[in-house]
Amino acid sequence: MSRTATSVTKVTVLEKIRQAVIDRPAQIAAAKKQGQKVVGWLNYFVPEELLLALDVIPVRVGVGGDEQLVDIGGRYISTKNCVFVRAAVGLLGEKKDPYTPLLDLLAVDASCLQVFRLAEVVKYYFKYETLILGVPRSFTAPEGQAYFRHELQDFTAALEKFSGRKLEQAKLKAAIELLAKIRESLQYLYQYQSQDYANLNWRDVFEIVHAGFYLDRAEYLKLLQELIAELKELPEDKSKIPGTEPRVFISGSQLSPGDVKLINIIEDLGGKIVGDDLWTGLASYLDIQIAAPTVDALADGYLARVPHAALPYLNISTDSRIKKLKELLGRFRAQAVIDHTLRYCDPYTFKAGETKDILNNEGFPFLEIHTEYASSDIEAIRTRVEAFLELVRTRNDVAGGI
Ligand code: SF4
Repeated sequence: MSRTATSVTKVTVLEKIRQAVIDRPAQIAAAKKQGQKVVGWLNYFVPEELLLALDVIPVRVGVGGDEQLVDIGGRYISTKNCVFVRAAVGLLGEKKDPYTPLLDLLAVDASCLQVFRLAEVVKYYFKYETLILGVPRSFTAPEGQAYFRHELQDFTAALEKFSGRKLEQAKLKAAIELLAKIRESLQYLYQYQSQDYANLNWRDVFEIVHAGFYLDRAEYLKLLQELIAELKELPEDKSKIPGTEPRVFISGSQLSPGDVKLINIIEDLGGKIVGDDLWTGLASYLDIQIAAPTVDALADGYLARVPHAALPYLNISTDSRIKKLKELLGRFRAQAVIDHTLRYCDPYTFKAGETKDILNNEGFPFLEIHTEYASSDIEAIRTRVEAFLELVRTRNDVAGGI
């Protein structure tokens, strides 16, 4: 998946992770033969802790960049839905990838209503068993918090019935600890890749995040820890001179596994991606504090983090998404933001304008790219990104670089 050579030094654990992803479907198929069940999940609020504690195998569903799947999905769901949703419908209908044929249940949270509609469509047309987790629109109000606790209790009861197991506090505690360590490791890797002379780049870390959509979570943590240990031992990669490439942060709609059009363009034009706040990237792993091994504490922890853009945050001056974005720009020493929105992704499209205004006011270069999975707009995007990176380079030259 990673097409850019990052280092003169080979990171051996990265290759192990890639091999583990290749081996994973066969492992899951074998586990199913032993009676384990597989739950595909989508969006932002489904707590994997619950799935792990109930001994079901979680798989995060969705791919990007495949026009054919978009066309297939568009036969079942309105073409006014984003291409990710249409591609996911196509994926779940076709069942030609290694994971969808293995799913016993599709769990979906209703943060983005297009994903909620997806669940209805695949249940109706392809007979998936689905489970919906309601998400409050007033997520900061006490009523919203009470609603989400209640929703998660119902969701848990339905999962218990599905899995034939009762949620045990000790197992929930172990799952919370496991996922907390995974999040911590991923944050370490994000920080690491943003440094000068790192032996991994952002693209590698993004690929590692996506590996975690599929791998056994305990095995995944072991690999992450092994990778971090390896990186600490490796000599710095001095093959690139720091400060010569514009440092770009990617925000906006998700970039799902396989959606590499924009990434390729930025890298081909000499941009260095140093961070993201995508929900298929870093955003899912930030700021989840679960105070106790209970379903209520899970609900509180998930609801308190930076909200998904599909949830209405009416006061832009206190919007924690913007606050977090600024914090991440500083943390990764980003010099510019490329905001990527998928066509018909209303949540992020409408947020892009206000985000741009705020960052521009603070002197931050910001480029909005609206795209879909077709290749027809590659040249147009390339031209815009090229001009944008040139602008950032000129600013850096004027400022004397970083
Ligand atoms: S947030 Fe946007 S990209 Fe994500 S599922 Fe909803 S509409 Fe699609």
